Amino acid sequence: MFKSLIFLSAATLLFAGVHPHWDYDMHGPKHWGEFSQTCEKGKLQSPINIESNVTVSLADSHILVVDENRSSSAKVLDNGHSIEVDPKDGGDIIIGGKHFHLVQFHFHSVSENTLDGRHYPLELHVVHKDKDGHLAVLGVLFDLGAHNEALDRVLNNVGKAIDVNMMSLLPRDTQGYYHWFGSLTTPPCTEDVEWYLFKQIPTISQAQLDRFQKYYNHNYRPVQPLYNRKVEAH
Ligand SMILES: [Zn+2]
Repeated sequence: MFKSLIFLSAATLLFAGVHPHWDYDMHGPKHWGEFSQTCEKGKLQSPINIESNVTVSLADSHILVVDENRSSSAKVLDNGHSIEVDPKDGGDIIIGGKHFHLVQFHFHSVSENTLDGRHYPLELHVVHKDKDGHLAVLGVLFDLGAHNEALDRVLNNVGKAIDVNMMSLLPRDTQGYYHWFGSLTTPPCTEDVEWYLFKQIPTISQAQLDRFQKYYNHNYRPVQPLYNRKVEAH
């Protein structure tokens, strides 16, 4: 009886096209191939470890122009995997003349990308899309230190709306960065994502980290093999 009930509900789920949801625990990164083959078989997966002394110079077509100095109203939400902010009318980044529009940003703790093997306590991902649906993500690592005003505005307003200017969360220097081709770090692990990780590392306070970690304290995917990829530095 029980078995057939379980079978029935599994069949119902499949029929409805609904899969049990991925997470960072029972259905964590080792199982993500069950949600999307790309997570398991892809050769351009994120995150990665960056060896700062094993980089090549940046191709001209990958030069990044940051045009994010724009205020917008935004929703702050707990999406079940992270704290996410959705600006209504955010800025752009321009890569090789192509415009990518700001879609949303969210955080991981600890950092997903590592630098010379080191995880940082928090990483910001700023997701952009061009008109053809191609994705580009800016990554910002945060270290412990001085209090971060802009992060407070996010953490104080989960479930509410805020006004946000993306520049307030990016490092002051946006002209030093690493670039590579990677993927979304969550299922469906979609590839051909342009990744940029800034070299400058802003700070957050321990109290702010504690507050974020009350929501999520291990929402990170382990680093993935580079295979044939080279990390460019600028
Ligand atoms: Zn992310």
